[in-house]
Amino acid sequence: MQPAGGSPLIELKDVKVYFKKGSIFGKRKLIKALDGVSMKVNFKEKVAIVGETGSGKTTLGRVVVGLQRPTSGEVTAYFNGYPVNPYSLKGRAKKEYFKNAGMVYQDPYSAIDPLMRVRDVLRIPLLYAGIKGEEADKRIKEVMSRVSLSEEYLSYYVFQLSGGQRQRLVIARALLFNPKLLVADEPVSMLDASLKGDILDLLNSVNSDMGVSVLMVTHELAVAKVFAQRIHVLYLGKIMESANSEEFFSNPLHPYTQLLLAASPDLKHLRTIPEIPLKKVSEIPSSANIPPGCRFHTRCPFAFDKCIKEEPPLKEVKEGHEVACWLR
Ligand code: SF4
Repeated sequence: MQPAGGSPLIELKDVKVYFKKGSIFGKRKLIKALDGVSMKVNFKEKVAIVGETGSGKTTLGRVVVGLQRPTSGEVTAYFNGYPVNPYSLKGRAKKEYFKNAGMVYQDPYSAIDPLMRVRDVLRIPLLYAGIKGEEADKRIKEVMSRVSLSEEYLSYYVFQLSGGQRQRLVIARALLFNPKLLVADEPVSMLDASLKGDILDLLNSVNSDMGVSVLMVTHELAVAKVFAQRIHVLYLGKIMESANSEEFFSNPLHPYTQLLLAASPDLKHLRTIPEIPLKKVSEIPSSANIPPGCRFHTRCPFAFDKCIKEEPPLKEVKEGHEVACWLR
């Protein structure tokens, strides 16, 4: 049974990912990359996770795609209509899981060996899955056509492709097994402005024509605005605000969201962005040293006593609009 549109494809509940990291003095620090994240991606939905470097958004993408086992919390995938914990799978069942969840990496220059031929980039994963001969050729042609790369490129080496063509090839490889979910980690951040729109259009068509859900990880709110139906803002491993795109940009409520919007040159025209005093705005703290209380209080221009002592929960302030701030 296939899940219907609007029903969850993958769901995270209170997911934490902690790492221990050594230092030159031999002390081991606890890095809290994710610190209690609950969210879901619905069937055929486009979701964006937005945050600065160090917010934990790439770790979140890796948890969803099955590459990063959580320290605690639940991950449940409904790819075939029934619930499965991907981290309990072994052997063949695990391989099947990876076919359903494809990954598009940030840097098309390091995602694929530049000395490989394009045909081999696509042929080898199929071979590992036992697909060869005519069936493999058919799939390769299908994904090349899907990403609008002419078949003549199959004989090219990867280093002969442009940045945009490489990212199309990365997406083609992620589509080889007809996945139900793509996790796209900063898919346009390394591309020229002229190519960004092309790749976003391609991901849009993958979603609308193939019914593939897309979870996009991005630091650019402008990219999330043109792409996503639902947006989550992540800060030091926790979701600060979550809403559908229209509500998010017409009624941003969390001071951190307002700060990100105010810092986005492409979104300065939005009248909904309140003035944010800049004097307290500084760099994101380390996830090895998360501030107590509201973790945003060291940068928040509106912080008051309670913010330093108690952590605000993520609560629904309007249907479908959640905010973690004592002022809401
Ligand atoms: Fe700012 Fe306090 Fe709200 Fe945190 S809880 S965002 S510190 S006002």
